[in-house]
Amino acid sequence: MPFWADAEGSILGPMVKVLLNRELCDGSADCVTACPYDCIEMVGRYPLVHEDRCTQCGACARVCPREALYVERPKRRRRDSPAMETTVGR
Ligand code: SF4
Ligand code: SF4
Repeated sequence: MPFWADAEGSILGPMVKVLLNRELCDGSADCVTACPYDCIEMVGRYPLVHEDRCTQCGACARVCPREALYVERPKRRRRDSPAMETTVGR
């Protein structure tokens, strides 16, 4: 899984994250059944993504009929920024 790291190599966090726009979500739960890693559950009428199991594959976002789920990628940082992109574990 790709991570952001600072210049010293300290992990700042995952590069991508699944986000939900609650105003668009209709509670269909299509994303729950679409997730191949079984990491989404409905809590009330909204899906909750268990980030510890999420691989950011995007399957949930692709099936969402309301485009309520989306995978966010951090903005590219400037070259002179102390943070840099790196890949861990692959
Ligand atoms: S598929 Fe989309 S609209 Fe349906 S519960 Fe999931 S996020 Fe909400
Ligand atoms: S991005 Fe993939 S692994 Fe993560 S919640 Fe969506 S379908 Fe599941």
